[in-house]
Amino acid sequence: MPVDPFFAVAAAVLGLCFGSFLTVCILRLPGEQSLLRPPSTCPSCKKPIAWRDNIPVVSWLLLRGKCRNCGNPISVQYPVIEALVGLLWVAAYLHWGVSVHALAGALFGTILLGIGITDARHYLIPDEYNWAGLAIGLAASLTGGWQGFLQALIGAAAGFALLYAVGAGGRWLFREEAMGGGDIKMMAMVGSFVGWKGVLLTIFAGALLGTLIFVPLSLKKKRLVPFGVFLAVGAAVTFVWGDAIIEWYRRFLNGG
Ligand SMILES: [Zn+2]
Repeated sequence: MPVDPFFAVAAAVLGLCFGSFLTVCILRLPGEQSLLRPPSTCPSCKKPIAWRDNIPVVSWLLLRGKCRNCGNPISVQYPVIEALVGLLWVAAYLHWGVSVHALAGALFGTILLGIGITDARHYLIPDEYNWAGLAIGLAASLTGGWQGFLQALIGAAAGFALLYAVGAGGRWLFREEAMGGGDIKMMAMVGSFVGWKGVLLTIFAGALLGTLIFVPLSLKKKRLVPFGVFLAVGAAVTFVWGDAIIEWYRRFLNGG
């Protein structure tokens, strides 16, 4: 596919804007604060940040990571998250061209990043990510007609039911809460993007990653498992390579 510089730049600018919005979501959703009011303020002096000091990545670099008013540092996390989302949107354009699928993939990736960071920090997955994602997943599926919409609905139901069952099984086995409600709703959202086979692959990949990465870490120090982080990585892998992996597995089962 030929790369059109106009669309590549447009994807980067859109991604940076969504990245900027995501930093607000990451900061405010865990405390159930409004996303719109008040406007962004300096974390130190609480002075509102002017629009020219709030341009994604650029303002932070120009101000060398300091508030214009009080000179206290502003976390490097903001430009890093903004740049990551910008790159994600450019990657979606390069991979899928100008399409609904590229837009859905970019939004899905942005939401998964928000979920992953929030779950790692606070062990919770705000509902706003799940509902917004579910709405986007279902809407994007309409490009496949009613058949596509039905697949997305089945995927969402499968994600919900499977994680609900895992949670209920965990409660019964370990007599403690194994799965937060956020994980269950998250997998319904993921299912609307990747379908029921994708749900299975996401849970498998998430459990595998969680076991490989987190169990060795948590043996030293007992802590909660932010399962949403691993599900988010699994869901992203599934969205991009899921069909190829499932096809490979099908051939593997059929003996080559
Ligand atoms: Zn300040």
